[in-house]
Amino acid sequence: MLGMKVLIINCGSSSIKYELFEMTTESVLAEGVVERIGTDSAIIKLRVTGRDPLVQTSEILDHQVGLSRVLSLLMSREQGVIQSAEEVKAVGHRVVHGGEYFSEAVIIDPKVRQAIRQTIDLAPLHNLPNLLGIDAAQSQLPQAVHVAVFDTAFHQTMPTYAYMYPLPRVLYEKYKIRRYGFHGTSHKYVSQRAAAFLKRPIEELKIISCHIGNGASVAAIRQGKSVDTSMGMTPLEGLMMGTRCGDIDPAIVPYVMAREELTLAEVKSMMNKHSGLLGISGLSEDMRVIEEAAEQGHAQAKLALDMYVYKIRKVIGSYVAAMNGMDVLIFTAGVGENSSLVRERVCKNLTCFGIELDDGQNQLRRKEERRISTSSSKVEVLVIPTNEELMIAREAKKLVEKISL
Ligand code: AMP
Repeated sequence: MLGMKVLIINCGSSSIKYELFEMTTESVLAEGVVERIGTDSAIIKLRVTGRDPLVQTSEILDHQVGLSRVLSLLMSREQGVIQSAEEVKAVGHRVVHGGEYFSEAVIIDPKVRQAIRQTIDLAPLHNLPNLLGIDAAQSQLPQAVHVAVFDTAFHQTMPTYAYMYPLPRVLYEKYKIRRYGFHGTSHKYVSQRAAAFLKRPIEELKIISCHIGNGASVAAIRQGKSVDTSMGMTPLEGLMMGTRCGDIDPAIVPYVMAREELTLAEVKSMMNKHSGLLGISGLSEDMRVIEEAAEQGHAQAKLALDMYVYKIRKVIGSYVAAMNGMDVLIFTAGVGENSSLVRERVCKNLTCFGIELDDGQNQLRRKEERRISTSSSKVEVLVIPTNEELMIAREAKKLVEKISL
């Protein structure tokens, strides 16, 4: 059988996460990460399916060198899973912000590259390293088809009244200030999996998908298309998260800046890194720690948990209103897949929508797709483990097949 190997790359400012798929079977051949790029003690981790993990430390000063080390490892005689770089047919690049340019995955050509460049202003921390990864991969794997898959693309179907902010229109015209939404690859993947799990056409379903991990967002998906989502121009809007505050009264920002004499960078850091579960509990951004502390009676951890769950419920309720109904409620990502307590507390007070949770199913600890609602529940409540990398690999494969037709 002729194979189709697809490499997925997700670059941060000092990291490259990678995963190599064999797409004829959708199996993972190898995965890993390069961390602390830009230092003399960068770390490369590689895990090849069925073998012991490998960790190496060395000087890696940029993404070009980082990727070339990864490719050497993937091709090495001892650790490798491929014999030559030519075997990689496509590279799927996770790009965080596609602005208004991209509503689906695209093959990267000079025009696409330019458009990604133009979105750097909207997400400098993400799109700049994403471009570094694209440049490194294109120069080292020139024979492969390079595909960009955007976190924002799935939400480009939101209606104008859902994505515009009620600010002076000139801000949209000048700076494209509007809501974009994120986690689109995950919301798309889990909503498609949910329809497949239920053996129902996605076009018939009103789905609310809760991607709750360290970052968290809810999406309203009607007929397979995103019609609203809780993150906005940036991932700061919406739910209370691990360290992000989510929605707050915008007037708080100038108020606190004036009184605490904060700079722009400081106030951004306050809202992104010191708020959310961490800010309220004073303990941690990790839900496991919060749950344990709340159980032991820690008042601030209890409050953090109450606020976290309450906000998710409010957003779900608003999306039932946005879609005039809900057939399916999905939980995914770190908290959504693993915390039976958060799922239970979110669903407990949604009985008015006909949700009935099956406590036994909800308590099960299994990393697999499953229904956690009772057979009489009016809404199907599902746990669907997300797999953004596989979704990116599928998008890349689809485009390769399209051009080879
Ligand atoms: P993610 O960003 O999707 O990787 O999610 C990471 C977060 O999931 C962690 O910060 C934890 O808060 C949460 N998490 C992971 N495992 C559990 C668990 N067993 N119970 C509760 N929360 C969990």
